[in-house]
This record gives sequence, structure tokens and C-alpha cells, in this order.
Amino acid sequence: MKPLGPIPPGFGAVDGELCIGDVPVSALVARAGGTPLFVYSAEMIRRRVADLRQAMPDSLAIHYAIKANPYQPILQLLSELIDGFDIASGGELTMVRAAGIDPALVSFAGPGKRDSELEAAIAAGVTLNLESEGEAERALVISGRLGITPKLAIRVNPDFDLKGSGMKMGGGAKPFGVDAERVPALAKRIIAAGAEWRGFHIFAGSQALDADAIAETQAQTLGLAARLADASGAVLPHCNLGGGFGIPYFPGDEVLDIASIGARLGKQFASLPPELADTKFCIELGRYLVGEAGVYLTRIIDRKISHGEVFLVVDGGLHHQLAASGNFGTVVRRNYPSAIASRFGAAVEEEASIVGCLCTPLDRLAEKGGFPRADVGDIAAIFCAGAYGASASPAAFLGQGPALEMLV
Ligand SMILES: *Cc1c(COP(=O)(O)O)cnc(C)c1O
Repeated sequence: MKPLGPIPPGFGAVDGELCIGDVPVSALVARAGGTPLFVYSAEMIRRRVADLRQAMPDSLAIHYAIKANPYQPILQLLSELIDGFDIASGGELTMVRAAGIDPALVSFAGPGKRDSELEAAIAAGVTLNLESEGEAERALVISGRLGITPKLAIRVNPDFDLKGSGMKMGGGAKPFGVDAERVPALAKRIIAAGAEWRGFHIFAGSQALDADAIAETQAQTLGLAARLADASGAVLPHCNLGGGFGIPYFPGDEVLDIASIGARLGKQFASLPPELADTKFCIELGRYLVGEAGVYLTRIIDRKISHGEVFLVVDGGLHHQLAASGNFGTVVRRNYPSAIASRFGAAVEEEASIVGCLCTPLDRLAEKGGFPRADVGDIAAIFCAGAYGASASPAAFLGQGPALEMLV
């Protein structure tokens, strides 16, 4: 048997059925109109933000990187709870506007911004986190044509990375940001051109579970921001310290110690160098805010045995949960937390693989896990489905189409 990842805390059971927000999954599926279905718990998202606020220094703003999950009801919920939103495309700009989010709270990072995207963002009053000198020049030309003062920040490619992170986004040659040594010249150019100077965005990596590594990266980020602010010769109004807060997906993963990160950041804030004395700081998080609050529910369509192995074939698959199949930036495939939702908490009776309905061997949601005996009609649950699920999976593959989604 292969181990399964840890089921996030906060899920209950009634009469042997998984409950999300105190409602049994059969009722949720009936309400949504079927499976496959992503269910997101508003209560878990609220609690997550509250715990984070408690742990972090009061002056630290919390932003949400919407690429983790741009589902409209989640954006609306988070707009009541957090301080800002980070988008990475013109399409995401449309999404935050549709959710009624004030564009003044939005910043736009990401390489390869088209002129039409720059124009829409400048016209709306969104802050651009510039990814290159070329992009800066295009933004200045477009804002000149529009007669609007652009809000410009520079995304810095730091000269370090976030140790132990699942995805490194800084350090060395990268398509993201402007190499640190070239940042002061670009900052001077932007300020001289009359833009509203918004400061730095420094994002070093993603999905780290090691509080020491995150705290060390934050300290390095503050040091870099101070050096670059000094070399730019201008007051630094804002600094986005990045994020990288991870969640436990796999067997052996441990919960991130946010209290320790918050305490150390508080100490840093208490002794900032003069260059940063008036700077406003934020972090931007994606999966940490929403990942554990989502569950993917998919019904068992067939139960078959091949060479003695049990396969539970479900009506969903990697076209909705690419990450759980191990095909979204993982080197070694490991099992996400998963369970038979309609027999939740029942004893393990057999080894089985939960496989999707796509005609490809890549479509495995749980491999050789220990489960109670499940049959056709039972519902399987894949946890940690709140981030990089529905919007980060190839829903059109094999003509399957998207899953249903629901916030409860
Ligand atoms: C993807 C991304 C995030 C969110 O990453 P998580 O690992 O989901 O927290 C934040 N900032 C930037 C710039 C990103 O590209």
C-alpha cells in the first residue's frame, strides 16, 4: 500500500459520510446537480485568514494571487477578508472586476503582458509589476497615449531563491522580473518619466513548508529592498514580499509554522533601515488561503480488478485535478489526501487505485491507497483541491468539459 497525504483538519462526518461545512456530501452533490464537483468551504477560508492575521504583524497587508482559484464566489468572499489581489493576465483583470473588486487594490504581475492588457490595467488604475525594461517602455507609451499617470512597480528577480520551495521563482536566469542589479536604473527611469512609483515586488518561490526558510527569505528580501531603494534614490512606498506559504499535500508533509514566521517578521519590522521606514508591506498568497478549503468529489462509475489490483474508475480525473495526478510540476508522483466520502472514517479494507475516466495512464488520482471497500455509486473525495484544481487542469481534454463548483 502507498500512503495517502494528510486530510486537512476541519472536515467532519455524519452517519459515515464526509461533511463539508456541516453538510453531508450526498446533499451537496444533490444541490449542485451531480459530480464531478468542487466544493469550497467559506468557513475554512475565513478561519485561515483570521489565523494568518493573528500570526502576522498588524501592519502587514495580505493579498491573494487569484491564479490559485479565480472562482467568482471565492473572489467575492476574499474581497471582504483581505487587502489586495494579484492578477497575472487581462482575463484575471476581467474576473476581479466582475467580482466587484476595486482596481486600486489590484496589482498585475506576469511575463508577456500584451499591449491590450497593459492598456486595460492602466485605464483601470491597476498597479503594474513590471517584468522587464521593454514592458516598462510599452507601459509608458500607452499611458502617454491614454493621458493617464500609470502606477508602476518593478518585479525584482532576486539574487536568491526560497529554499525547499516546490517552485523556484527567483535566483539566476528567470523569465520573471528584472535582475536585481538592473532595478535601480529602471526605477529612476520610471520615476523621471512621471509615473506613480509603487515600489518593488519580490517573489522568490512557492509551496514551502519550512518556516525557517521563509523567514530567512523574508529577511533577505527586506535587505535587498533596502539596498535597491537606496540605489534608486527614492522613497519606497510599497514592497510586496512575495509569499511561498505551502500546505501539506503529501505523506510526511508538516503544517507550516506561521506563528514563527510572523514573530520573526515582526522583529524585522521593529528595526527597519531608514530606507524602509515608511514602506507599506504585503505578502501575496495563493494556495495557503484556499487550497485546503476545497474538496473534489467524483463518483465511482466502475469497479474492476486487473492482475489482482482494484481500480475504482470515477467520473472525474486529471482534466479537473491535474495536480493530484502528479502531472503539474511534480517530479515524483505521490498521493494527495483522498478518501471514500460516502464511507468516511470507515476502516481500511483493501488496497485500491482511484483512476479517472480519461483514456490515458496518466489519469490516476490515488495510487494503491488503503480504503474501505467501495463500489459503483460511492463518492471519492480528493482533498487539497481548493487551489490549482478547476482552473489549472485541461478540462477540454477528451471532450469531458468542466466540473461543477460550489462555495458553501
Ligand atoms: C503563483 C504566484 C503566487 C501564488 O503562489 P502560491 O504557491 O499559490 O501561494 C503568488 N505570487 C506570484 C507572483 C505568483 O506567480
